[in-house]
Amino acid sequence: RSSLYRSAPLAGPGVPVNQPAYINAVARLETEVAAEALLDALQAIEARHGRVRGEHWGPRTLDLDLLLYGDQRIDTARLQVPHPGLAARNFVLRPLAEIAPHLEIPGLGPLRDLLARCPPAGLERLPDDKCTL
Ligand code: AMP
Repeated sequence: RSSLYRSAPLAGPGVPVNQPAYINAVARLETEVAAEALLDALQAIEARHGRVRGEHWGPRTLDLDLLLYGDQRIDTARLQVPHPGLAARNFVLRPLAEIAPHLEIPGLGPLRDLLARCPPAGLERLPDDKCTL
């Protein structure tokens, strides 16, 4: 997994203000579980951690997203892969580049090019000794 990154909440129309910072990380795993079943598993983990789906884009206890699934592109009612927010979010691209610097994102191109176009604002890598995951 990547380091942990502290990020300022996204700002913009419809996004509640005065939210606390988020902590983000990216992990890679090997699995034989199909993509939608993996999404079920992620949502079950969110539920076990007491996630309540409240305000859209509001504060959350835990948010697990499926960013990539090998080199597949998936577009079903429940699941879009690569994750639609991936290209525009420095708090996804930076930790992803830490664990997979040479990645090609299906349909979007080299990760390093996406990263070069995404401003680094509001993102802070936390030192490893502050990480207790
Ligand atoms: P959120 O947890 O608020 O980020 O959004 C969860 C919703 O996004 C769920 O209803 C999922 O079905 C849908 N979704 C679509 N694609 C993805 C993805 N790649 N990873 C996680 N959730 C996804």
